[in-house]
Amino acid sequence: MIDRPLLGMHRPELEQWATAHGQSAFRGRQLHDWIYAKGARNIAAVTVLSKAWRDQLAAQPPTPALDWIGRSTELRRSVARDGTTKLLLGTADGLSLETVGIPAEGRLTVCVSSQVGCPMGCRFCATGKGGLQRSLAVHEIVDQVLWVREVMDQRPTHVVFMGMGEPLLNSEAVLEAIDCLCTDLGMAQRQITVSTVGVPKTLPTLAQRALERLGRAQFTLAVSLHAPSQPLREQLIPTAHAYPLEALLEDCRRYVGITGRRVSFEYILLGGLNDLPQQAVALAQLLRGFQSHVNLIPYNPIEEEDFQRPTPERVAAFKAALEQRHIAVSVRASRGLDQDAACGQLRRRTAQRDELAAS
Ligand code: SAH
Ligand code: SF4
Repeated sequence: MIDRPLLGMHRPELEQWATAHGQSAFRGRQLHDWIYAKGARNIAAVTVLSKAWRDQLAAQPPTPALDWIGRSTELRRSVARDGTTKLLLGTADGLSLETVGIPAEGRLTVCVSSQVGCPMGCRFCATGKGGLQRSLAVHEIVDQVLWVREVMDQRPTHVVFMGMGEPLLNSEAVLEAIDCLCTDLGMAQRQITVSTVGVPKTLPTLAQRALERLGRAQFTLAVSLHAPSQPLREQLIPTAHAYPLEALLEDCRRYVGITGRRVSFEYILLGGLNDLPQQAVALAQLLRGFQSHVNLIPYNPIEEEDFQRPTPERVAAFKAALEQRHIAVSVRASRGLDQDAACGQLRRRTAQRDELAAS
């Protein structure tokens, strides 16, 4: 018998699960509808099932603190003036993670976490400051999209794995979650982006496993580059010393070769550090031959570091220098800057507040 949470299972698996529990396969189809379309938060809420069976299931959960459906609880909500909504969710084992809903004209993007914390320790990132607690399971990833749908009362159109954690350290669960988002929530793979800072030897495997698991790899891979040279990159990303830029770019080429998809590159702009015009020229040279897109991200200040936000003039000049060299480039709009905007900040602030309250 399958004894993991039901969230994350496709319709046939739910049918199997129902029959293994002595029910008809039809009950599995009903469960599918209630979990994904109706958003039932626990098995007791699936009132289409008999009360006797619900009581029996509630008395025997998969783990003591987890209901069969596998939803997390909402711990905190923070809504910015522009509608950007950051949620702090609590897992069954008492950890907390962030997810963000970002509304824009005609779309709703959910920024999901793939891990609680992150072991990569990038210097500019609030999530990296606390280290890794653990990777998230499939149900805990899909759950985030359901929470944003419910809280914002709107259907998410896009999902980006740009919340807490390094997705390539949890790639099987990430691929399974993508499969669930597409198969069970009706999203399109092309509207999903997986962002990585780079983990040696994982990119070609991700491409291969995506083909095996999803039949195709149409989601966008975004690689967090952040610097045009190895020494500067190592300064910002400690783990980069084990993964030279040339090796990372070679793996990107292999990824493109296997999937046929373009890779996009993210570049956080830190005032006076990596936002100089000559660094844009170096970046353009580095990316020659790539059919790529560069996404510039002006740094969101975090408490622990005193990096500077780049001036609007510097951002514009950096963008122009790339454009002159025929590199497709966009600048990420700062959303919700008034509400602990940088990823990992809501969780860190909450933890600090709780520590203060406890002391
Ligand atoms: N671990 C993955 C995905 C999560 S981080 C990765 O690093 O790509 C998602 C994005 O948020 C990354 O591009 C990262 O550089 C960016 N980011 C982290 N801290 C930031 C900050 N303080 N300001 C702006 N962007 C930040
Ligand atoms: Fe981890 Fe990404 Fe933050 Fe680096 S930027 S510490 S890889 S979450």
